[in-house]
Amino acid sequence: MNNIIFLDLKKINSQYEYELKEACSRVIDSGWYIMGKELTEFEAEFASYCNTKHCIGVANGLDALILVLRAWKELGLLNDGDEVIVPANTYIASILAISENGLKPVLCEPNIDTYNLDAQGIKKCITSKTKAILPVHIYGTISPMDEICQLAKDHNLLILEDCAQSHGAEIAGVKAGAWGDASGFSFYPGKNLGALGDAGAITTNDDKLADILVALRNYGSHKKYENLYQGVNSRLDEIQAAMLRVKIKYLADETILRQKIAEYYLSKINNPLVTLPNYQERNRHVWHLFVLRCKERSRLQSYLSENGIQTLIHYPIPPHKQKAYQEFNDYVLPLTEQIHREILSIPISPVMETAEIDCVVNIINNFR
Ligand SMILES: *Cc1c(COP(=O)(O)O)cnc(C)c1O
Repeated sequence: MNNIIFLDLKKINSQYEYELKEACSRVIDSGWYIMGKELTEFEAEFASYCNTKHCIGVANGLDALILVLRAWKELGLLNDGDEVIVPANTYIASILAISENGLKPVLCEPNIDTYNLDAQGIKKCITSKTKAILPVHIYGTISPMDEICQLAKDHNLLILEDCAQSHGAEIAGVKAGAWGDASGFSFYPGKNLGALGDAGAITTNDDKLADILVALRNYGSHKKYENLYQGVNSRLDEIQAAMLRVKIKYLADETILRQKIAEYYLSKINNPLVTLPNYQERNRHVWHLFVLRCKERSRLQSYLSENGIQTLIHYPIPPHKQKAYQEFNDYVLPLTEQIHREILSIPISPVMETAEIDCVVNIINNFR
């Protein structure tokens, strides 16, 4: 019997066990556990990876998004009730970041082929109250940022990229996280760059924004016991920064492994009942998830499970149908609802064995 688990985090991290343990000991021995050298070094390394001027470590990906919007409010660029356009099919965190700040999420239907926003869809959602766009590079493929940036420029809108699933994705050599006015990243353990606990970061080229964010994440304080803002405690601790400094060295290689599996799936999976992801050549997709569509999703999922293949749904309930957002419950968003009804994520990770990949292909191809 097969036992192909969706994502084997233990196997991923055990590849680097020696280095991770050494880095952990280094922090323990340093006697300095918050806002120290590991964080400063990681921020520099991640800014360099994304090719941005600044990286500000925070406690998690949700806080990264929340704090950028909050900083724009402090700067007077956003005000209560302003509209922020966000894909309706995103993970709920992107939407929580908007409502948490007293801003209005405007749920935009994504492109059915890429599952991301595109300029055409965004245009339909722009009103006189629109102040920002929050594109989510979902599943590891980057939104068409060239056209989105042009649109934002024409309408004088801010762009906050949600890069929680897209570390290293790029268009024309420009990475996710370097296109917008600011970007939020998550290093949740299961993300392409994952810590061994919660962690997140913001990237930006804007000096003023970076300066406020450095304070906001630390009680609103630049200087100990002097508070310029009513900030929060959202710091990326030294142990997690040290873990990330080990893992960032392997991110490029791990991404290549994901891309190879994805290419194999795309060339070998062939079943008229299954729609494959639409891979766009110009985008460097980093395959956080490999998402199929199937009209008979639950039958396919049970079939795969009976054959020892674990799958997941990202995500089973669209945000506008959640109890947490009753004000959106009667919205009609046909593409988003179709996506949530039909999508299924199959295993993809840098530690999958060739035999496992072949097995996934064969079993899907035999689904009748
Ligand atoms: C994971 C994720 C987040 C939130 O990140 P956390 O670190 O879990 O807070 C935000 N947006 C998207 C699209 C995500 O996948």
